[in-house]
Amino acid sequence: MSEVHELQWFEAADLPGAVAILSRLAQTGSPAKVMAGGTDLIGAMKDRLQDHRQKAVVYIKDVPNLNRIAFEGGRLHIGAAATVSDIEESPLIRQRFPLLSMAAAHVSSPQIRNMGTIGGNVNQRPRCWYYRSEDFNCYKKGGDFCFAVTGENQYHAVLGGELCYIVHPSDTAPALVALDASARIVGPSGEKTVAFEQYFTSPRVDVLRENILGPSDILAEIVIPEARSNARGVYLKIRERQVWDFATVAVAVQVAATNGVVDDARIVLGGVAPWPYRVPRAEEAIKGQRLTEDVARRAGDAAFVGARPMTHNAYKVDMGKELVARALLAAV
Ligand SMILES: Cc1cc2nc3c(=O)[nH]c(=O)nc-3n(C[C@H](O)[C@H](O)[C@H](O)COP(=O)(O)OP(=O)(O)OC[C@H]3O[C@@H](n4cnc5c(N)ncnc54)[C@H](O)[C@@H]3O)c2cc1C
Ligand code: SF4
Repeated sequence: MSEVHELQWFEAADLPGAVAILSRLAQTGSPAKVMAGGTDLIGAMKDRLQDHRQKAVVYIKDVPNLNRIAFEGGRLHIGAAATVSDIEESPLIRQRFPLLSMAAAHVSSPQIRNMGTIGGNVNQRPRCWYYRSEDFNCYKKGGDFCFAVTGENQYHAVLGGELCYIVHPSDTAPALVALDASARIVGPSGEKTVAFEQYFTSPRVDVLRENILGPSDILAEIVIPEARSNARGVYLKIRERQVWDFATVAVAVQVAATNGVVDDARIVLGGVAPWPYRVPRAEEAIKGQRLTEDVARRAGDAAFVGARPMTHNAYKVDMGKELVARALLAAV
């Protein structure tokens, strides 16, 4: 017979209120989870993942103005509760930050984009099948083994893996890093703003989580500086199924070029590492260069220097090199 659990449901009127509830419950030893669209969280709770067995959720999706999208003071502000569809369809984002709307359009299905929020998208938990199964108590669940190393690792990391070889599942996260976006975080000790490049963390820092948020912290807003007038962005994603699927390999590029010569570039890989993986070596390979096919291919090769594929995922290295080259050529 399946177990029945009582779930406490809190609806926060504002973010300080939500933080207060989270802090209070954490002190009672019965921590709660933030819930926005619930498209990831509910699945994790049903799968009874180690840190999702809590009996309380704090619902923030209806907090007033938390879904606001506005361009102010030379920056784009996106409330964490804006849905992925809001971002995909915003004329402002399409026109001024097309890289982000492209990445949003690659998230899952229309139904999930309508329910799911940008805050939930960047904070969603990994999809490793050992992690999602109750039967495997791996490092990420407080255990002492990674089952992917000797097991089915065809969708796992080829870069940056240590202890744990998940790939970061978010499509919008690589685009946000490429756009030099920052996160405004509200927590028990007040507010802080952190660049997304420092927001995501490696398993070596803490194998139990994927970002810097503490248990009572909430991502309030995403802030993106205006792009240079000669910059163009492209998001490309390879997935096995075309209806909806997570990235096997993805790349977000934001390139500023004058007459075909690259002034500046940010290149960030998705689907190949435990965090959105910026590749400065590939960026340096194109800066000051006319972006020919040869130069783009050199950048693709540079992006995967140091890759350590496992038994079943070496194909990601070849795919990734090709995808980086194609994205750069499309951008310039
Ligand atoms: C079938 C399926 C396919 C999917 N495919 C893709 C895909 O192709 N690409 C992709 O990128 N994603 C995909 N997703 C993942 C994800 O569900 C969605 O991307 C969605 O955007 C998550 O948003 P949400 O608001 O529903 O998050 P929720 O489920 O509400 O939350 C997700 C996590 O983030 C935390 N959280 C939410 N909001 C905040 C906040 N403001 N501050 C701090 N923590 C927060 C929650 O506590 C939870 O741990 C898929 C999900 C499913 C079920
Ligand atoms: S890759 Fe990470 S989540 Fe997957 S089995 Fe290994 S430790 Fe667990």
